[in-house]
Amino acid sequence: MTNSILISNGILVTMDQQRRIFEDGAVMIQDDKIVSVGRSDDVSKKIKPDVIIDAKNKAIMPGLIDLHYHTAIARGVSDGLPLGTYLETFWYPKLQNLKPDEAYWAAMLTYAEAIKSGTTTANDMYRHMIECGKAAELLGIRAVLSCDCADASEKLDTLKDNEEVVRVMHGKANGRIQARIGVEWVPISSYEFLAQVREVANRNKVGIHIHLNESLGELEMSKKKFGKRPVELAYDLSILGPDCVAAHCVWLSPLEIRLLKETGTPVSHDPGSNAKLGNGICPVPELLAAGVTVGLGHDDTECNNTLDMFETMKMASVLHRAHRVDSTLLPPEQILGMATNNGAKGLQMEKEVGSLEVGKKADVIVVDLHKLRLTPLIYGKQLNILSHLVYAAHGDDVDTVIIDGKIIMENRVIKTFSEDEIIDKATSACRDVLARIS
Ligand SMILES: [Zn+2]
Repeated sequence: MTNSILISNGILVTMDQQRRIFEDGAVMIQDDKIVSVGRSDDVSKKIKPDVIIDAKNKAIMPGLIDLHYHTAIARGVSDGLPLGTYLETFWYPKLQNLKPDEAYWAAMLTYAEAIKSGTTTANDMYRHMIECGKAAELLGIRAVLSCDCADASEKLDTLKDNEEVVRVMHGKANGRIQARIGVEWVPISSYEFLAQVREVANRNKVGIHIHLNESLGELEMSKKKFGKRPVELAYDLSILGPDCVAAHCVWLSPLEIRLLKETGTPVSHDPGSNAKLGNGICPVPELLAAGVTVGLGHDDTECNNTLDMFETMKMASVLHRAHRVDSTLLPPEQILGMATNNGAKGLQMEKEVGSLEVGKKADVIVVDLHKLRLTPLIYGKQLNILSHLVYAAHGDDVDTVIIDGKIIMENRVIKTFSEDEIIDKATSACRDVLARIS
């Protein structure tokens, strides 16, 4: 069994508080923890590792954190629909008809794809989350599981189902699997259901994951049904807080931005999904200026259709620049911070993951820079590694992924399960569920 791993001779992007970058850097891992970080010469001297990974011409950086994630089963079969129609004609019928083993293979597919593009933590809201948790446990990804809960009449999951997921999965696999209480969204919630969410989360000592203010249609429904906008409603019901990830937050009033700040509620910005579904653009500059923690998410592969967080990072930078006609917005360092530090803070895991620092969990990715699209690589004063990582790199450039101190992918090969089998089983699962709903 491997206990210590040295990754050396790479450009080390720590994403620590000082944002240190070592042009010839290394990370030493002992069991599940980072035990040394710094110049290759210094780190290599400390202990004799069981495994050495040579990161020459590669970047060593923290694994990416996908703050709003749904396992999904049917990519590419429902494109071009507005959010409401898409949910009613595809997303909910599929979720209502999904069998546990189909959810398992869908989760195997998305988690494997996430690992291959450098995501080490997924904040996943879906159905049959015990099955999804088994997939996360086997593949080796860090996952936070919440159910797609709504009113019982919607035939999705209930708060009781979610409590069972917390009971069975929370803290499993050396703490790598966690659980939260999930809320689908306000339009299919009753006041009574929403009023229970905070109590159930607190009683189970877990956080919350909710969609808020994603589309204009949602705002209208919320105002009509409850007389309030979604964030206002969530505030009144004490759902908001530092332990509540609010996904999307595209359409926010100045009051709602203040409520998010006042309650310390982190937001997941999901630019690919918002753009593809025609939902608008989240006011990220205003949220950051107000002091709200903003992380990044892909949402799901039916409304994105990729879960490559490198693509999400690029979109999160360029979208706002185009929209505001301002090339200074959201520079690479800030974007990388959103995909690492802020994602960790959003999940209240900032003491464990989100940067490469001594004592933290060893969630580390190695990105191959010896690529045409990442050339030229300039060192010294004009060091362009951060620009490359945000604007030019693809998920496919990730070469090695270590999660919780275990090598999950090496030389682009996932070591924990057969990719071919995942492709076969996930395809069959999708065909079966589509046949049942059509
Ligand atoms: Zn979502």
